[in-house]
Amino acid sequence: MPRDARYDILFEPVRIGPVTAPNRFYQTPHATGLGWQRPQSGAALRGVKAEGGWGVVCTEYCSIHPSSDDSPYAFLTLWDDDDIAPLALTAEAIHAHGSLAGIELWHGGAHASNRMTRVPGIAPDVQPSLYHLPTTARAMDASDIKAFRGWQRDAALRAKRAGFDIVYVYAGHDYLPFQFLSRRTNHRSDAYGGSLKNRVRLLREMIEDTKEAVGGTCAVAVRLAVDELHGPEGITSQGEGREIIEMLAELPDLWDVNVAGALGNDSRSARFSAEGFQEENVAFVKSLTSKPVVSVGRFTSPDRMVSQIKRGVQDFIGAARPSIADPFLPSKIREGCVDEIRECIGCNICRAANNEGVGLRCTQNPTMGEEWRRGWHPERIAVYPRREKALVIGGGPAGLEAALTLGRRGLEVALAEAGEAFGGRLLREATLPGLQTWLRVRDWRLHMIGKLPNVELFPASRMGPADIAEFGADHVVLATGSHWRRDGVGVYAMRHLSLRGALTPDDVFAGAPVSGPVVIYDDEHYFMGGALAEKLATAGHEVHYVTMAGVASSWTVMTNEQDFLQARLIEAGVRLHPLKALKAQGNGEVRLACVYTGRVEALPCGTLILCTGRLPETALLDDLTSQGIAATRIGDCVAPSSIADAVHSAHHYARLLGEPDLPPRRERAPARGL
Ligand code: ADP
Ligand code: SF4
Repeated sequence: MPRDARYDILFEPVRIGPVTAPNRFYQTPHATGLGWQRPQSGAALRGVKAEGGWGVVCTEYCSIHPSSDDSPYAFLTLWDDDDIAPLALTAEAIHAHGSLAGIELWHGGAHASNRMTRVPGIAPDVQPSLYHLPTTARAMDASDIKAFRGWQRDAALRAKRAGFDIVYVYAGHDYLPFQFLSRRTNHRSDAYGGSLKNRVRLLREMIEDTKEAVGGTCAVAVRLAVDELHGPEGITSQGEGREIIEMLAELPDLWDVNVAGALGNDSRSARFSAEGFQEENVAFVKSLTSKPVVSVGRFTSPDRMVSQIKRGVQDFIGAARPSIADPFLPSKIREGCVDEIRECIGCNICRAANNEGVGLRCTQNPTMGEEWRRGWHPERIAVYPRREKALVIGGGPAGLEAALTLGRRGLEVALAEAGEAFGGRLLREATLPGLQTWLRVRDWRLHMIGKLPNVELFPASRMGPADIAEFGADHVVLATGSHWRRDGVGVYAMRHLSLRGALTPDDVFAGAPVSGPVVIYDDEHYFMGGALAEKLATAGHEVHYVTMAGVASSWTVMTNEQDFLQARLIEAGVRLHPLKALKAQGNGEVRLACVYTGRVEALPCGTLILCTGRLPETALLDDLTSQGIAATRIGDCVAPSSIADAVHSAHHYARLLGEPDLPPRRERAPARGL
């Protein structure tokens, strides 16, 4: 289909200093959990983004010196010449598709753990580790500053030798150059502290040094947090953020600006931010510079992208998460297939991968992070060699993904769902505050299935063993999901409790009456307990949130949501009872024990809701097994987990049907024939 002329503006080339981006799609630097340990995986991941049409593709953070070591997290390194060849793989993979390769040179200062290198941290001032370690960074003296400038210069030269086109000076996310900029962290009294002009000095020198080193051939980009969201105490977009841009306006070749301070601020989940939420803080930048500006905002709508350009908010469409959810987003707009864009749902499972120290994963895109180690491609898949029939039972995320992927491979597929509507758990979970975007997991798959003549949908079709036997499929796939458990067994509490009358989230979604003080007991620790508490409190209930963890929805630390979430619960009037174990229920109260002392206290309770874990739906499998009918389970009915894991499980099954299921490749030394 020809592309809509309205979107032509997105495909204009843009000059960035000495280089030219082929279009306005700019994949800003983002972590992958791959780092220097997995150069081939990193190169393949970035290469797929370039293949999908991103005109600029950047790496994750790349340390310029061993005094900036983010272990145990995965980061790149340009510490010596031996780092050049592995990074050249990434530059080559990006260039293979005509895109520009950018590299984010990084020094964490007091934010680096240095757990691997064991080099003392450096900072503008003596200060406790920003990494929350019981260590202290030492103050940089004049010779340290001179050495630091040399590291940036040397790393820039190595980046150029590796083939990169855009080299970053990184002054955001609480890292070293930003620590110099902010009054909160810079208490120096020399030429690098005090007035803003002095605090900006190091950033200015870094830009000048980097330009002098590589400016003839590479563009020099500055990534700057124009607001660190600490109010007037820190950098603000109305105050010093603006002044910094005024001072340095024409010095870099490109401004990559965001609202940051801490990392979680500029990559807020959909629950805590809307598409384009940074605009009010970053829009001023373009009025102060003639250099191109890029920013991010989880953009997935081409109309909103066009509006960003036409209204002069930015020159590029900056994206990290939308490029993870759909590496082919630009080419789908270019080819007139806007309806096929797999939109990011803003769940931040991708952020969790990095925070857990593992390779990138994505709820919407099960191939993300699997490009090299499994050879999975988001748009291409091998055709199944025979015209066989598959019956997929259960139309939640796993069933939808399996039906779509089997359909793409050319099988005759029937997808049967007991309910009137497809979506499974999404239909319930998307009714929780801020989670409406999660329905995109269903919508995209249903839409794409609609294009496949070989996939038939059967809603309102609860399947039993007789129906399945009668259907006569070559492959029976069970995606029957899970249900919340009633016995109180959770992540920390392993003992079964007798809790008659307690509700589960399934009961609440099914409309069970909720009355009196509501006690939500969360021993699962992801979103459900906290989101239900918020929903019920907003509906006017007195809500007590009890957890054995120290904070609400404690695993959401991984998705960078926990701070926002706890604040929201407090604002909604939810009473929090951390570090308490549920012991008993009855007579209008629950009995809670302190997890440390065992001391028991009573809490009035009208309705107890247990969010402790889920059990797989295995009844159908058991029936089939007893009748000798073979079936394969996928998704939550194997092992209840995140939506991302259910989608991945389904994709894995469907992609590998008829193929050997080998372990993923790992980046190891070559075999020596032992
Ligand atoms: P997952 O996350 O693994 O996709 P869900 O719980 O979201 O799991 O979805 C499971 C779906 O399976 C639900 O929509 C449920 O109605 C459906 N289902 C369960 N048992 C049957 C059955 N016997 N026949 C058809 N659909 C079923
Ligand atoms: Fe978007 Fe979630 Fe995928 Fe991250 S994991 S890119 S937030 S859909």
